[in-house]
Amino acid sequence: MQDSIFEISIFGGGNGYGESILVKIDKEWIIIDSFINPSSSLPTPIEYLKEIGVDLSKDVKKIICTHWHDDHFRGIADIFEQCHSADFFCSDCIDTQEFTNLYGITDLDPVTSPTKEISKIIDILKSRNKVFHSLRADQLLHQQNVKSNAIKIWALSPSQKSINASRMQLSKVLTQYSDDKVLPPSPSPNEASVALLFEINNFCFILGSDLPYFNDSDKGWKHVIENSQICQNKKAVFFKVPHHGSSTSYHPTIWAKLLEDNPIVGLTSYSKGWGVPNQKDINNILQHTDNAYITSSRSDKKRIKKRDKTVTNMLSELRIDITEIPFEFGQIKLSTNNLSNPIFSLELIKSAIHLNKYF
Ligand SMILES: [Zn+2]
Repeated sequence: MQDSIFEISIFGGGNGYGESILVKIDKEWIIIDSFINPSSSLPTPIEYLKEIGVDLSKDVKKIICTHWHDDHFRGIADIFEQCHSADFFCSDCIDTQEFTNLYGITDLDPVTSPTKEISKIIDILKSRNKVFHSLRADQLLHQQNVKSNAIKIWALSPSQKSINASRMQLSKVLTQYSDDKVLPPSPSPNEASVALLFEINNFCFILGSDLPYFNDSDKGWKHVIENSQICQNKKAVFFKVPHHGSSTSYHPTIWAKLLEDNPIVGLTSYSKGWGVPNQKDINNILQHTDNAYITSSRSDKKRIKKRDKTVTNMLSELRIDITEIPFEFGQIKLSTNNLSNPIFSLELIKSAIHLNKYF
């Protein structure tokens, strides 16, 4: 098959949790968030790029962490370490000063705390003499021409109101830490999420991160719909559904104002806690499109059950050794060889399925 000129892959699901998105433009790659393969404990975008022979140190140009939730950042520092020529981007909800203040607060952290990843990223930035880039609503973060096709990438969020709120919360956290030397629970970062819009000639893609819908024109999706200068008169043909399909990020106006009819949509499941999507979330999505895909079915999320002791004893008496195959993750891949008049091919790889097969 001819090498694709443009590709988007969404990774997630299985018995892991989280998501990562890979975008290829011409010969260069952008990695958005990190998802750990539950079998190998390695970031899936790195495994995939190595498998297809991409030179990580040269061909990955941007790494974007959309927000500091562990289902999106676990492994992001390892990715950055291997991608020597990449620039690092994150939400403007953490400004330079606060980012630096978080540096070094690693001793009391739980394993999944963002500050460990942030400290490592700052070390790498220092060693490469680079700075981190922050993103906010309506900011252009990339533009290039590929065979006279204009490509632009915009951040659609966070809004100024979300940036102000998040910084205030974060400075409270830092004050409390310096008093008590114990990290209080961090503020919920979904509102800080960076949603992205890819504009290629006349077609658009929206990657929704975990951005919520609030009944407030100054933040979340309502802010994008009502105030974004970038989204005026643009409708996306592809949508990475925000927040794993959760109702907190759903509103019919997102579909009516920002997306074409019957768009292709992809999402990852979230297997911790209450788990999303639920049946109602799925119905919400399927009323807008037939082309909805998820990285794994609900049953793929169930962890391998502990074997009964008597069965274990019996197996060892019979000298039977059982290798349990870990559940796979899934990859939803959309690619094209032609940007002027694109025909997209969709591949559902490993455990990825149509959304109506989720339960
Ligand atoms: Zn998430």
